[in-house]
Amino acid sequence: MKKIVILGAGESGVGAALLAKKQGFDVFVSDKSPIKENFKAELDEAQIAYESGVHTEGVILTADEVIKSPGIPEKIALIHTIQRHHIPIVSEIEFASRFTNAKIVGITGSNGKTTTTSLTYHIFKTGGLDVAVGGNIGRSFARLLAEEPEHEFYVLELSSFQLDGIHTFRPFISILLNITPDHLDRYDYKMANYVASKFRITMNQTEDDIFITNKEDLEIKKFRETNIIQPNEWVISTHFDSDLLRGRFDMTKSNLRGPHNYFNASCAIAAAIVCGVSDAKIQLGLETFVNAPHRLEFVANVKGTDYINDSKATNVDSVYWALSAMKRPTVLILGGQDKGNDYTPLDKLVREKVKAIVCMGVDNKKLLEHFTPIVKNIEETHSMADAVRVAATYTEGGDTVLLAPACASFDLFKNYEDRGEQFRKVVSALEL
Ligand code: ADP
Repeated sequence: MKKIVILGAGESGVGAALLAKKQGFDVFVSDKSPIKENFKAELDEAQIAYESGVHTEGVILTADEVIKSPGIPEKIALIHTIQRHHIPIVSEIEFASRFTNAKIVGITGSNGKTTTTSLTYHIFKTGGLDVAVGGNIGRSFARLLAEEPEHEFYVLELSSFQLDGIHTFRPFISILLNITPDHLDRYDYKMANYVASKFRITMNQTEDDIFITNKEDLEIKKFRETNIIQPNEWVISTHFDSDLLRGRFDMTKSNLRGPHNYFNASCAIAAAIVCGVSDAKIQLGLETFVNAPHRLEFVANVKGTDYINDSKATNVDSVYWALSAMKRPTVLILGGQDKGNDYTPLDKLVREKVKAIVCMGVDNKKLLEHFTPIVKNIEETHSMADAVRVAATYTEGGDTVLLAPACASFDLFKNYEDRGEQFRKVVSALEL
């Protein structure tokens, strides 16, 4: 019996283990960190052997094939050792794709993956298609195939780490939303490597497949000019008046706001058109879609000021688009753990739309230095309660307070969800 060793016992690794077991392989799971209790319980129930808090090389090297979870970098010693023993290493996405002939819609990009993936799924479902959703959100692809193997379509959010481990994975439709600097530590700090990783989503596509992408994104443009793209391309403009939206679909009836979301919607619409969903059902899907929280989420209107939670805006590009969507004078709450950000792309929008910046982080020095010459009012805070309180002092009726930090949350919060929830809580208290 072929032996599969799975490195990493999170959602991806456990999903792969369940699928591999179901397919009749001899399965062993190894995680260097302690495995969470819920995942242990699942492995126990499926009678899958595992080790927690350790990698035992002697056991791992008995594998015929290794499935590496996306969180594990390529460069660690264990991966080199496995490669030296000529044991093939694949990603969970690659492994899972061997066990289905369903049509896959794969969605990647630096920003907008979750929104576009959820919206595409919602429109497909509204259109009556037999579809499941997962990948980098919700259930891993392998788990989906273990639990619900019979769908006609799988809509998958894919990260660049997941794409790095594919060899034959071939989506029927691939969507590449945008490419801006992110995760460069995993790509030798070379943008070209990160771009190449994102374009892997098309590498096995043929002329029978579709590649939906962004017309204005500079990195995408550059790559397309210098490389041959096999699948049919559907290149969409990020402007409000993209051909698809003009006259054919009415986005004003959707909850999604801002040019970036109109672009995301255009990509989802294009995929739905390719898969035969009628215009009427697409429009209905647009009107009934509710996005995941913490993404330009309206929280409350307090004394005429809208409070908007975009805690998931963890890089400069997402803040750029959040500000682009603002129609009223804005007080911007910005800051956290800086990821080597260059804030210059925000300067023009800050000058045009922002009446005050409230920095919220343990160390606000870089923000203060950058924005003090650009904005009239700038303040420093070190907690959500203070940030919201200070922001409120700058508001008059008709303004917006926007939480869009451009930074990671880990200096003051558990994660971006915690940051968004604290924002909601503090804002609700303002209403009292
Ligand atoms: P991802 O899954 O890629 O992180 P999300 O849909 O969760 O994407 O959105 C993350 C952040 O990026 C949010 O702040 C959101 O408002 C912003 N965003 C969404 N779509 C885009 C886009 N097409 N371009 C730039 N920013 C976007």
